[in-house]
Amino acid sequence: MDTPTKRILIVEDEPDIVRGLRDALEFEGFEAISTGEGRVGVGLARDPGADCVILDLQLPDINGYQVCEEIRAANPLVPIIILTARAQESDKIRGLDAGADDYVTKPFSVGELLARIKAIFRRLQRPPALHDEVLQIGACEIDLKKHTLTRARRSQPLSFYEVELLKLLAERAEQPVSRDEILDKIWGLQAYPSNRTVDNFIVKLRKKMEENHKEPRHILTVYGLGYKLVP
Ligand code: CA
Repeated sequence: MDTPTKRILIVEDEPDIVRGLRDALEFEGFEAISTGEGRVGVGLARDPGADCVILDLQLPDINGYQVCEEIRAANPLVPIIILTARAQESDKIRGLDAGADDYVTKPFSVGELLARIKAIFRRLQRPPALHDEVLQIGACEIDLKKHTLTRARRSQPLSFYEVELLKLLAERAEQPVSRDEILDKIWGLQAYPSNRTVDNFIVKLRKKMEENHKEPRHILTVYGLGYKLVP
């Protein structure tokens, strides 16, 4: 069965990294397009478009967070992986807030990044376990097809991983799901990011969904294990 070639957009100004990534992606059968400028990257994400974006946060022309926001605004569904040289947790959270789905800290191995990309596409191809297209969680309506969350008549976009995480928790509503299982099922064993990745996504989702994200009523922490969804 032929699947169409996936196009990966690389927005990065360091030629060595771009070359290494392009070679590895093309070797794996992906099409790779690249630019060293954020502005051009926003344009390429629109035309010819991309199935996944790898975005460096430190670009010569415009701030990478802004590039991320603009790509996300134009395309709510495309998975965006940011590259950050900054080790600080707050920068990663800021990147996730700007609409990124995942991050890789420099220096990274090309193999690790490839594993993340493949995990994303594997997830996208997996048949849905949930047949509902809309989840009702508390006062929120989550459209799993359109990737939107509507609360108090305000609709906001959800990223790829946010939707996948909600689907997994909803499939097992009222039961605890461990961080390890979340990492395994959503990010894929080979792509293992840290447990903090899951926690960062939970923080983001709570801010979007909960009345008071510091006292969550729908996405509960199960201490020492993981999380539980209470619709
Ligand atoms: Ca850079």
